[in-house]
Amino acid sequence: MVGAGLSGLTSAYHLRERRVLVLEAGEVPGGVCRQGSYQGLAYPAGSAYFYYLGDPSWEAWYKGLELPLADSLVSKPVSALFYGGRWYPDCFSKPGLQILPLPRRAINGLVNLVERLAVWEEVWDPLGSDNLPNPELDQITLAHFLEKEQGLPPQVTNILTPYCRSCLGAGPEAISAWAGLFFLMSEFSEKSRTAAFPGGNAMIARALAQSLSPPVRCGQTLVRLEPTRHGVDLLVWDSLGSRGYRLQAGVVILALGKFAAQHILPPHAGWNLEIFKGFRYSSYVVAALCGRISVESPGYENWVVGEEHLSDFIMSPRTPRSGEARVMTVFAPQPYAQNREALLRVQPGDKAKELLTAVESHFPGTAREVEEIHLYRFGHAQIVPYPGFLTTLKGNIAQAQGRIILANSDLEGLPCIEAAIVQGQKAARRARTLLTG
Ligand SMILES: Cc1cc2nc3c(=O)[nH]c(=O)nc-3n(C[C@H](O)[C@H](O)[C@H](O)COP(=O)(O)OP(=O)(O)OC[C@H]3O[C@@H](n4cnc5c(N)ncnc54)[C@H](O)[C@@H]3O)c2cc1C
Repeated sequence: MVGAGLSGLTSAYHLRERRVLVLEAGEVPGGVCRQGSYQGLAYPAGSAYFYYLGDPSWEAWYKGLELPLADSLVSKPVSALFYGGRWYPDCFSKPGLQILPLPRRAINGLVNLVERLAVWEEVWDPLGSDNLPNPELDQITLAHFLEKEQGLPPQVTNILTPYCRSCLGAGPEAISAWAGLFFLMSEFSEKSRTAAFPGGNAMIARALAQSLSPPVRCGQTLVRLEPTRHGVDLLVWDSLGSRGYRLQAGVVILALGKFAAQHILPPHAGWNLEIFKGFRYSSYVVAALCGRISVESPGYENWVVGEEHLSDFIMSPRTPRSGEARVMTVFAPQPYAQNREALLRVQPGDKAKELLTAVESHFPGTAREVEEIHLYRFGHAQIVPYPGFLTTLKGNIAQAQGRIILANSDLEGLPCIEAAIVQGQKAARRARTLLTG
């Protein structure tokens, strides 16, 4: 197994009765599911929440990991919108829509859309499947769908911008309507609940990693793969020991992004490596503002409209006791399509200052409460489902060639943990067939 993000860890977990070695380039398993800590307080430093889908198979899966699911359900209001200096709690619910500062016609249009999403929710089963229901929605942008097809005013697109930038890597004008609507379907769903652990989705990654023996080997970067007659040869760089070494495996699951896989796979492995060039990723900065932070925000997820430097924030703990230390995790998706060079060039101190200034402009007084800032940089943070990408993916990319199998959420085209888990499970099934067949 190469890559210990949620997709790789899930595959390894489902194959744990076999001899599985997991190699991870980073210092800890989890990929973008990271946890930070301040004075013993855990906070999400990357991927934060998931959907408790109210579906028996998902429930069994989480329970199998012995995760405290009942404690993870987020109390209402889950989401709140900060717009024009005011809070609008429970913005992703029908009652919440009613109080948004929008013309009545726009509110009615949004309510109709939510009702349509509920109908689609019954018939769409896209994760892991080769079909894309309503494929025409993948050919247009979310902004086009909202404004031209639904006749909603641009204010609606504006209100949804922080959500799209944060969860889908780009604004409504750049993402596929299908992907945007699929995500909004989950937010408005009356069948699923939002769930989160104190340190975010890192807790799921940890539970998966702890089930593995031998443990995940960190600091190990796969550099090259070579299919052989009986398996696969791997060339690995051990950054802890500063040395390279070779390994042989019966089957390899590549659970890393295609931005890396395209450089590791040889052309004769069977994939058209040009296709991987069509995978586009966004970059991300997460800043944890630590101190006695007194910002009052109604939601678990708090979306800030009209602020280019950040999209949303989560407070840990959500309800503080007086004088208690708190962390404000600020999510700062970087502008899509401006490549990661800008992120590599910026100095951490300057980035921290930029984010602090942005927070202070909306929540005056916060800057002087901040005692420490922890910054996390994610290049190639998440796949961006731009229009047409999901259509290209479905059925067009072989999951396996010989004894090499692909995993990772980018194969689903959707940046969410459910996509990573489903892809991990699919890869494990494929590996088992190869190993037993
Ligand atoms: C800041 C942020 C917040 C998010 N918040 C949420 C959220 O709240 N809810 C949600 O559902 N989704 C969220 N997501 C998206 C979701 O978490 C991810 O889509 C999912 O976790 C990705 O898992 P993965 O295994 O596909 O990829 P990754 O997590 O990217 O894992 C890939 C792993 O492969 C390793 N690797 C890469 N190259 C090599 C190599 N050559 N050799 C060895 N190892 C290698 C990497 O180090 C990494 O650990 C968020 C994403 C980001 C960036």
